[in-house]
Amino acid sequence: MAEARPVPEVDRAAAARKAVERRRARAALKRDLTMRVTTPQTVLARATADPDSVEGSMRITDFLLALPAIGAGKRDRILDDLGISPVKRLGGLGVRQRAALTRWLDERFPVIEPRGGRSRLLVLAGPTAVGKGTVAAYIREHNPEIHLSVSATTRAPRPGEVDGVHYFFVDDAEFDRLIDAGELLEYAVVHNRSRYGTPRAPIDAALAAGKTVLLEIDLQGARQVRKAEPSATLIFLLPPSWDELVQRLVGRGTEGPEERARRLRTAKVELAAQNEFDHLVVNEDVAAAAAEVVELSSSSAR
Ligand code: 5GP
Repeated sequence: MAEARPVPEVDRAAAARKAVERRRARAALKRDLTMRVTTPQTVLARATADPDSVEGSMRITDFLLALPAIGAGKRDRILDDLGISPVKRLGGLGVRQRAALTRWLDERFPVIEPRGGRSRLLVLAGPTAVGKGTVAAYIREHNPEIHLSVSATTRAPRPGEVDGVHYFFVDDAEFDRLIDAGELLEYAVVHNRSRYGTPRAPIDAALAAGKTVLLEIDLQGARQVRKAEPSATLIFLLPPSWDELVQRLVGRGTEGPEERARRLRTAKVELAAQNEFDHLVVNEDVAAAAAEVVELSSSSAR
């Protein structure tokens, strides 16, 4: 007679490891939702497509609690209103429950509708350490047909930076003069430290010559461009995950712990501004993100 064989030690260890991994993945997913690195609609879509996925195995209660500005009280009221039992997992919702949840999400967290504008003025912004500079540098190297704006800044050049290529390095007096003479399209103090601004004349000239112009600037600058040139196409660069953004910030190793904590707080606020933008691009891979930005430039320049 066949005896029930004990589960081998290795299998048990592997299963435990897998459970830990899944818990970790769910925790990371919650952080992504809270920090708005991913949209709740995307998570629900993945849960629906694959109930066995990390998204699918997430409890509806945890999902709602991870959303910005939803506390336990609100969560319970929402579940009541939507007629969803708190024991449900995202991947196990019924058709009607899913439809009700989708309606509620769309109302509460409107999805950005890509704009089909005609602007050749592109603005690339995003949270600190997301890699805007790297994506812009990649475009400068591979897409010479796109005019990459060179900013003026009062910060000192870093090793390898060339005046007139990476920035126009100016002193405070010269920056004041540029502002007074109306020569800057926008300007801002970035990271509480130095001033940065976009010279207007080269952009006007490039646009007049029929070129597409790309500005890699901070959020305050992007908002000013939006006001000055409402037709500009605003692109927001997202990290693949919140954990990855933290990693990139730490990995850079150029800031101390206090400065790092400050930048993470800033990044959280910056991520909350993504709805002001026309397009979202995820920077998982620099070449792919650059290609997406370039693609937006050609489609918006039609
Ligand atoms: P970094 O000093 O590391 O080169 O740049 C710091 C930040 O300044 C980046 O987030 C970059 O996007 C932003 N920045 C660079 N040029 C400009 C500019 O002309 N205007 C504004 N508003 N921000 C800029």
